[in-house]
Amino acid sequence: MNKGFFGQPAGLSTLFFTEMWERFSYYGMRAILILFMISPQAQEGLGMTRDTAGAIYGLYTAGVYLFALPGGWLADNILGQRKAIWYGGIMIMVGHLLLAIPGIPLVFFTGLACVAIGTGLLKPNISTIVGDLYPEGGVRRDRGFSIFYMGINTGSFLGQLAVPLLAEYKGWHWGFGAAAIGMFLGLIQFRLTQGNLMDIGIQPKAKEDKNEEQGPGVNRGLAIGVLVLLLAFLGILQATGQIDLFTAVGFAQAVGIIIASVTLAYFLFVLIAGGLTDEERKRVLVIFCLFIGAALFWSGFEQAGSSLTLFAQDFTILDPLGFKIPAGSVQIFNAIFIVMFAPVVGWLWVRLAARQLNPHTPIKFAIGLILMGLGFLVMVFAAQIAAQGTDVSMGWLILTYFLHSIGELTLSPVGLSATTKLSPKRYLGQMMGIWFVATAMGNLIAGLLAGGVDPKSPNDMEPLFMSVFIFAAVVGALFLIFSPIIKKWAGKEA
Ligand code: GLN
Repeated sequence: MNKGFFGQPAGLSTLFFTEMWERFSYYGMRAILILFMISPQAQEGLGMTRDTAGAIYGLYTAGVYLFALPGGWLADNILGQRKAIWYGGIMIMVGHLLLAIPGIPLVFFTGLACVAIGTGLLKPNISTIVGDLYPEGGVRRDRGFSIFYMGINTGSFLGQLAVPLLAEYKGWHWGFGAAAIGMFLGLIQFRLTQGNLMDIGIQPKAKEDKNEEQGPGVNRGLAIGVLVLLLAFLGILQATGQIDLFTAVGFAQAVGIIIASVTLAYFLFVLIAGGLTDEERKRVLVIFCLFIGAALFWSGFEQAGSSLTLFAQDFTILDPLGFKIPAGSVQIFNAIFIVMFAPVVGWLWVRLAARQLNPHTPIKFAIGLILMGLGFLVMVFAAQIAAQGTDVSMGWLILTYFLHSIGELTLSPVGLSATTKLSPKRYLGQMMGIWFVATAMGNLIAGLLAGGVDPKSPNDMEPLFMSVFIFAAVVGALFLIFSPIIKKWAGKEA
């Protein structure tokens, strides 16, 4: 394979720039999404309440990651990775174009659905091909993924810069249009340079490795039983007025309950009836712990696009430089810190490993969660000042994004790679799916929490941020306390 990109296979360059433009459109659009939904109709927004907008943000961003499950399946079994990326990209572009059409809510929701489905087709499959570029695995593959992660964050940086600026100074629909153009450039780039990938990702994987050990299908009777129980439970909640399924918030809560219960049932099924050896069972229990940790981490982290963006708009001084920085652009510091510190954190682990001091996965999860929590502790102080009626410096949010970014670097890559190593081989695809479900769950909660940031009720913010801090700190501490046991269960793999 010709060496063409930072000493990596030339195919990595194709994937790097395609993903860069895809993330440009995703994060760029996401940066203005909630602001657009709550903006009054007189200002060409949708005029929604914050609760409703937050719930839709949560459903959409969760949907993006949930659709990765059918998206991965379709590519593996029917389309092949390359076609999935291509058609996914087209759907994303069409979705953003629909969002750029002003004034019709049905068009808006169709646009969101297109982006979510398209991303479900593109995102998991482009990561799969990155892995396929390095059949030998090992350090070279890890390095390939680190470079790829830079592409993600470069795209995120550019998108969160350009899209909110256009939305602020030219109008919302220019912002959505820019997201569509970004994806268009990504598609052209993919088309023109896909020769770099040679034949990787053309055949559906199921055809390539027919002899691979397959995981058993989930028991149908059991699945139906769980669904019936769930529907009955939701029915009771509806009948007793605990939840109103016909509002966005109630619907999002119901989706959260369904995701959590189905995941739990899935784990129970695999643990009890999945034909695991004792050793495998312990490792699957570790994956379950990582699932909980990751879902919680993302439910704080992904508030970047929901409550923290609202906080930036309502309570932050946005013009310290003399011109107004769009509220949606403040979260750009996440991408900046990731690009700056990814090499540092990577170097640190290597140095520590050389002295046999590299922390184990549960310890890294604990650190990630505690850093995420500390970010919210910072916001508790900011919220106290804001609740007194004074706008706060952007420094608070920047510090929070710094802590969150270091937390992301500590938790996210390790979680993904631990999941691949811990999973019994015949369950690998499903367990990778579980990792996406954790992200989906986190995004959903992150959206639902957004209603707590509102200039009409400034006193709601401190308890909101405080409870995220406490939750993260407690679960982080549990990971620390139980790390010897988790490590033992994981065996040599962690
Ligand atoms: N920022 C990373 C990406 O976009 C990770 C996001 C996540 O998993 N929640 O791929």
